[in-house]
Amino acid sequence: MPVETNKKRQIKPPRVRQFGGSLLILLTLLLLLNFIVPSFFGPRLPQVPYSDFIAQVQAGKVDKAIIGGDRIQYSIKSETPDGKVVEQVFATTPIAIDLDLPRILRDNKVEFAAPPPDQNGWIGTLLSWVAPPLIFFGIWGFLINRQGGGPAALTVGKSKARIYSEGSTGVKFPDVAGVDEAKAELEEIVDFLKNASKYTTLGAKIPKGVLLVGPPGTGKTLLAKAIAGEAGVPFFSISGSEFIELFVGVGAARVRDLFEQAKQQAPCIVFIDELDALGKSRGGAGGFVGGNDEREQTLNQLLTEMDGFDANTGVIIIAATNRPEVLDPALRRPGRFDRQVVVDRPDKIGREAILKVHARNVKLADDVDLGVIAVRTPGFAGADLANLVNEAALLAARQNRQAVVMADFNEAIERLVAGLEKRSRVLNETEKKTVAYHEVGHAIIGALMPGAGKVEKISVVPRGVGALGYTIQMPEEDRFLMVEDEIRGRIATLLGGRSAEEIVFGKVSTGASDDIQKATDLAERYITLYGMSDKLGPVAFEKIQQQFLEGYGNPRRSISPKVAEEIDREVKQIVDNAHHIALSILQTNRDLLEETAQELLQKEILEGSQLRERLQQAKAPEELNEWLRSGKLSEDQPLLQSILN
Ligand code: ADP
Ligand code: MG
Ligand code: ZN
Repeated sequence: MPVETNKKRQIKPPRVRQFGGSLLILLTLLLLLNFIVPSFFGPRLPQVPYSDFIAQVQAGKVDKAIIGGDRIQYSIKSETPDGKVVEQVFATTPIAIDLDLPRILRDNKVEFAAPPPDQNGWIGTLLSWVAPPLIFFGIWGFLINRQGGGPAALTVGKSKARIYSEGSTGVKFPDVAGVDEAKAELEEIVDFLKNASKYTTLGAKIPKGVLLVGPPGTGKTLLAKAIAGEAGVPFFSISGSEFIELFVGVGAARVRDLFEQAKQQAPCIVFIDELDALGKSRGGAGGFVGGNDEREQTLNQLLTEMDGFDANTGVIIIAATNRPEVLDPALRRPGRFDRQVVVDRPDKIGREAILKVHARNVKLADDVDLGVIAVRTPGFAGADLANLVNEAALLAARQNRQAVVMADFNEAIERLVAGLEKRSRVLNETEKKTVAYHEVGHAIIGALMPGAGKVEKISVVPRGVGALGYTIQMPEEDRFLMVEDEIRGRIATLLGGRSAEEIVFGKVSTGASDDIQKATDLAERYITLYGMSDKLGPVAFEKIQQQFLEGYGNPRRSISPKVAEEIDREVKQIVDNAHHIALSILQTNRDLLEETAQELLQKEILEGSQLRERLQQAKAPEELNEWLRSGKLSEDQPLLQSILN
């Protein structure tokens, strides 16, 4: 693993005093006091039922009474045995309206009066007027504080909290492998940062912006850090999506802040990750309401800042994106991100180098050959390879091994490609049989098709999310182009599983849906993207939109309904022909299919030389070569007809 110091030093804004919270507490206390005070200081008197009180009055025992609206205090004088007169005070609660009470009291000669005005009354009155607005402001202040950043709308320009200065990154060029061309181009940037005077004395302008483009996980972020590390300059980093804020104008303020800070620390590197989040072409169809406005303002600010500072201040802006095609053209103008460096997926040699970097701190057994692993991992990006090494090490640790062996790596590759083994998913006998014939079907056809590489392994142990069994075919070398017969072969191989089910069981299962999906997609691309159809010719019916991200929809160019119909017919023809060939091959190799499937059912996994020898026995039917060459079948197709009826 490369040493990555991720200690982000956060520049914090001065803390806003949280007056709201303490105010609220104070108010609550005051209010409580208001309720508690009277009962605190008021005398606690024995309570008597109202009827008893009346009875006592009528018995002439009551001496004095203070009649309040909701409380009556009265005193009774009595003589103790030793001749002293004591006064006992009681309280009672009057029933709502007893208009007879004054008359009864008068009749019995009780001295009575209303209570004196409340001593604490003014506090209550004051609080009842002052407290509600105070509480309101208290809650408001509290909420605003909780949202963070104080009254955010008021201090827009000061929101520096999100800008990170990572100091020195600790990453050097040797930590980044397999992207030699990109590194060579970026060496120059390092030199600019180190020896700026060499260039400026000659009157040369140092480039301001470098755009790193490439698929995810190829090491763009890592490269940017390595540049800073090599040159020994501070590294400021922020992600494009962090600029996009709820309030219009905040993003622009952040950009301004970022550049202000950077200029103070020049020479340094400002790294903007995911530039596409920010720099989408302006004027296109708007996103959600308001979002576009904000992005546009932020982008404009970025452009202004880039133009605004002198090229020779020593601030170099590096941005990364995996969607260069959506970037606003203004960003690529000379003087802005005019240098573009492609960081592509590594080739075989590159993969080996990356594996070496990540295996530096891992104990490897003698049988581990990183070169072989590199061969077996076409299409893996740097991040995948880093992950692979780690997975292998984890597996070895789980087995309590002293060092990571090749088998760990092989298992890790399979994990990454096909998902985790799921032995807990128990298939019943019929299902297991279906899966076994299905997979052997793929394998036999795959073995006869050009360019697809060796079939390395067949397994009926469930893996990953949906796979009940799988067949692994490993290319012998990196491939950058696919020839048309290889695409046809691929489609036939994909349909091999289903074809085997048809031949052996006479009916099909749901297990082939993924194969069918892929086969149809490939057939469609064959026609609409690669222009390989004889009938429709080399006309592109789809626009390539994603250069580095696969799996995104390819909207078709606007075409006439007639052509759309033609495309659909051609797609179906290609799939049908491939299906026919798959059936034909499996018919020809019926015995091989049977034997191999039975063995697979017994052993669950077939691999290595044993499997290869078996598959070498597969015989090609006569029509195969003609179909591979032209994509066509001879006029009569007895086999397909007979099977499908
Ligand atoms: P990107 O920014 O292109 O999506 P990153 O730079 O974030 O990819 O890569 C993620 C991780 O993958 C890195 O931290 C590193 O461990 C590993 N990695 C990716 N590419 C390489 C490479 N070329 N050499 C070494 N390690 C790499
Ligand atoms: Mg990145
Ligand atoms: Zn399948």
